[in-house]
Amino acid sequence: MARIVMKFGGTSVADLDRIRNVANRVKREVAAGNEVAVVVSAMSGVTNQLVKWCQELSPLHDAREYDTVVATGEQVTIGLLAIALQAHGVEARSWQGWQVPILTDAAHGKARVDRIEGAALIARMQAGEVPVVAGFQGVEPDSNRITTLGRGGSDLSAVALAAAVLADRCDIYTDVDGIYTTDPRIVPRARKLDRISYEEMLELASVGAKVLQTRSVELAMKQRVRVQVLSSFDDKPGSLVVDEDEIVEQPIVSGIAYSRDDAKVTLRRVPDRPGIAAGVFGALAQANVNVDMIVQNLGADGTTDMTFTVAKADLARTEAELGKAKATLGFESILADPDVAKISVVGVGMRSHAGVANTMFRTLADKGINIQVISTSEIKVSVLIGAEYTELAVRALHTAYGLDGPAV
Ligand code: ADP
Ligand code: ASP
Ligand code: MG
Repeated sequence: MARIVMKFGGTSVADLDRIRNVANRVKREVAAGNEVAVVVSAMSGVTNQLVKWCQELSPLHDAREYDTVVATGEQVTIGLLAIALQAHGVEARSWQGWQVPILTDAAHGKARVDRIEGAALIARMQAGEVPVVAGFQGVEPDSNRITTLGRGGSDLSAVALAAAVLADRCDIYTDVDGIYTTDPRIVPRARKLDRISYEEMLELASVGAKVLQTRSVELAMKQRVRVQVLSSFDDKPGSLVVDEDEIVEQPIVSGIAYSRDDAKVTLRRVPDRPGIAAGVFGALAQANVNVDMIVQNLGADGTTDMTFTVAKADLARTEAELGKAKATLGFESILADPDVAKISVVGVGMRSHAGVANTMFRTLADKGINIQVISTSEIKVSVLIGAEYTELAVRALHTAYGLDGPAV
């Protein structure tokens, strides 16, 4: 007997048939004698629609009201799944984030989980009931308002819940049957990985591999939660996220990721003097905008151009904040380019092997793809390119690093 958290993403609960399918899977685990808690996302497309409505009413909307709106998708699915489970003869009860409670900080739209009260859920599970918990949602205790955990945040809900109820496993059911060397939807020859290290998965997630949300991997690594990614549509074994030393064969590059969620911002003719970077990025930090890649060009005539990337979702806020600070900072203009993609290669083998970045630059050059910004970490190289080259770049790199599986 084991205690399991089962998480189902949007496509797995996209309609009533799929919700019945999920109920069957949960029933199977319960029938096998396991204690089960379930976490579900909103039906696929629902959160996108809710986000769009907020954007359309006001690009600079109040983040607390955004959370009030976007958290509703998950309320629907927990109720529907609880009904489906009961109809299958499984005792089940829905739980919203505030009912558990899943306590978070006040960073609305991308809140961090501070603490989950696991005791009540454990008691229910021990009594044979299946708690069906809304992913993505939390509550900020001081204001008593609903928060959400950032896009893809149901993965984090699941891992945090698994840690809080001391689960033996956290199974993340999705629309692919595991973690691949790159997104199998754009590279048909991507290979499924039986295992991947926490560190590599964390890096891949943080640069755009949507299969697991970044913070969920971070938390799994910290709390040593055993995470498995598998399909809700078949019974194939999935991929496990494990410690590095549990992986026997370690390739130099283990995965490639892309992200079209970033926008490039250039400040033209910024005064080239001490304190300017602090002024620019300080203003953005104040507004809760995360900056990713940064380059500062060589100064000429006492000014310089500064280029960096932010999440597309933060672009309007970025332009507004920098617009306000324009006079104090003294730059000439802001250029925003949302048509960019970030392509990253990741592998722990990079620590001990040179030439990984060079292979990347050569491969892109051979395809005539211009690199706009570069950034590196110990186990990752990322480049920013024109969004129209995304698929071409990922496929070429997948081949260049010897990751291609058999032709399909
Ligand atoms: P869910 O709604 O179940 O949370 P997501 O859409 O968030 O599902 O994540 C699953 C998707 O992640 C897959 O459909 C796939 O297109 C994408 N993906 C990106 N990179 C990878 C990868 N390396 N391995 C597997 N899937 C990936
Ligand atoms: N429904 C939320 C989203 O679409 C959370 C999730 O699916 O993980 O981002
Ligand atoms: Mg997801």
